[in-house]
Amino acid sequence: MNPEPNDPALGDVLVSADRLQRRILGLAAAIAPTYAGRRPVLVAVMQGSAAFLADLVRAWPEPVDTVHVAAESYDGTRPGRVRLTLPPDLRQQVAGRPVLVVDDIYDTGATLSEVCRALEALGPADLRSVVLFLKHRAGGPPAGRSPDWVGFEIPDHFVVGYGLDYRGRYRDLPYLAVFRPVESGR
Ligand code: 5GP
Ligand code: MG
Repeated sequence: MNPEPNDPALGDVLVSADRLQRRILGLAAAIAPTYAGRRPVLVAVMQGSAAFLADLVRAWPEPVDTVHVAAESYDGTRPGRVRLTLPPDLRQQVAGRPVLVVDDIYDTGATLSEVCRALEALGPADLRSVVLFLKHRAGGPPAGRSPDWVGFEIPDHFVVGYGLDYRGRYRDLPYLAVFRPVESGR
């Protein structure tokens, strides 16, 4: 199914809006008991995780704190070096606290490893992670830190929607779809 018939770059819907909402409710119910009575700090990796964070905190059965860090690595559809931007007061927010990193998609694992390395240096009580989508890469599983919880395992396509973009577009789609760039030379 092509959800936007006027946009030839959008392909099949991999995860519908309904399935996303149901899975996020399940993730919140599965993860929250780990933090019972310990109010976790959810560190969202922006911008891609904005939609996931918003739905996750509303599905969470207890109060949580949230912090945003920014990571950028993709240039169009190609991965590159990870650039992190951390808020100046991050240490006060995470030191001695149970910390859960919230990321949109795990591809090479470079982003999650970089974010966790930066957070470990700030002395959290413990550090875990949840990613909404885990890509099955052609070359087998990636090296590096693996997430503690995963929403959906998806095939190795470049995807957009539900927070994920292509050059700033498609973050607003309520579902996850395959994207096929129609640029020349790619
Ligand atoms: P990794 O560092 O694990 O290779 O990739 C993680 C980051 O790259 C994600 O947080 C996301 O921002 C971006 N990314 C990876 N795969 C995709 C994809 O298929 N589509 C989009 N839009 N971004 C992706
Ligand atoms: Mg990201």
